[in-house]
Amino acid sequence: MPRFFGEVEALTRPKAPAPNPLDSLALKTGPGEKKLLLYVHVPFCRQKCAYCAFHSQVYNQVTAAWYVKTLVAEIGLWGRRLNRPKAETLYLGGGTPSLLSLADLNRIVSAARQSFDLDRDAEITMEANPDSVGDAGWFASLASLGVNRLSLGVQSLSDEHLARLGRPHSAAQATSALALARRAGLANVGLDLIWGLPGQRLQDWLGQLRTVVKELAPQHLSCYGLTQEEGTPFTRRIQAGELTLPPEDEQARMYVLGAEYLESEGLLHYEISNFARLGFASRHNSGYWEGRDYLGLGPSAVSTLGTRRFANARAMEDYDAAVRQETTGRDFEALDPATLLRERLMLGLRTTRGALLSDYLALTGKALLADKKALIQALRQNGLARVNQGRLRLTKNGMLVSSAIISRILD
Ligand code: SF4
Repeated sequence: MPRFFGEVEALTRPKAPAPNPLDSLALKTGPGEKKLLLYVHVPFCRQKCAYCAFHSQVYNQVTAAWYVKTLVAEIGLWGRRLNRPKAETLYLGGGTPSLLSLADLNRIVSAARQSFDLDRDAEITMEANPDSVGDAGWFASLASLGVNRLSLGVQSLSDEHLARLGRPHSAAQATSALALARRAGLANVGLDLIWGLPGQRLQDWLGQLRTVVKELAPQHLSCYGLTQEEGTPFTRRIQAGELTLPPEDEQARMYVLGAEYLESEGLLHYEISNFARLGFASRHNSGYWEGRDYLGLGPSAVSTLGTRRFANARAMEDYDAAVRQETTGRDFEALDPATLLRERLMLGLRTTRGALLSDYLALTGKALLADKKALIQALRQNGLARVNQGRLRLTKNGMLVSSAIISRILD
């Protein structure tokens, strides 16, 4: 019996046998499909971007070496606790994973392979920023480690906007990074872009999308609306009136017309902010949105295993102490079936597959179409939602106001 889960059970149900945590995976994914999604959080960046509220710190070699050592220990710990379970994705995110040396990246991926039964065709994604990638040889080394999907933080093709966002790279660096990745044989490259930037007009955004599609031709695109995160320098400048965001109706058109354009070019809109060529949707992120189990490794990473959700400490010292004492994951939130169903409904509505009406029935004991008759009618009449094949799906206009719709459905 894995020691850790024996300890947790001893705290909660001392006389019951400690369950194998993968039993709950079996319930969610069906026989023969007990596969985890693995996420590794790399908490380093070259500098802090002006709009960012993610957990990251400025890179330095000493802390990075400490982090990698602790991370490898944590990976080994979880591999032992869970009896080297099957995993089908490994996602190196952050932060800026491309700041780590190839030797460190090799240590991390090798540790994951050793401690988890990674599928032969596992999707291994790495996030990279254009300022911290190497030459074609560097990309080829990534590919030889098994990285088969690259997510490149381009954010904008305008140097003016990049400077305002506090990004440490130019648009030319981004296009050159993409070309080098392709030259090294990485065939699955996604780009991140941000819309709704100060000074950006609808035509700028659509023109940029055209350039991206026609000239850069990524397999995947994530297009995020700029969000104002509390306490960031960027938000303070907006609050001080130094920067002005585009009017709301123009931002709405950026989203809807941008999504329509991408679809007209054959990029499938599969989640609120995500578009992909056929066969190139992110398996890892799709797994999250389907409510699958995921194990988050590294400082501040969150995990959901069966009905247990827990987060690692954010500070390096606390994270390292928890890994040494083997207490990571000991304090967990127990998710009841109603919470899991609510989450699955919410996540489903973020995707173009939509949410299962049967999940609503299981959650509330009522049929959604009857229980929220007036709301569903209004959503359909206003072109915000559709119902078919047992699912409720938001349209592009509906996705624009998804938070409001989701809270009305689940209130
Ligand atoms: S590179 Fe990404 S994670 Fe790092 S500071 Fe910039 S936006 Fe945040």
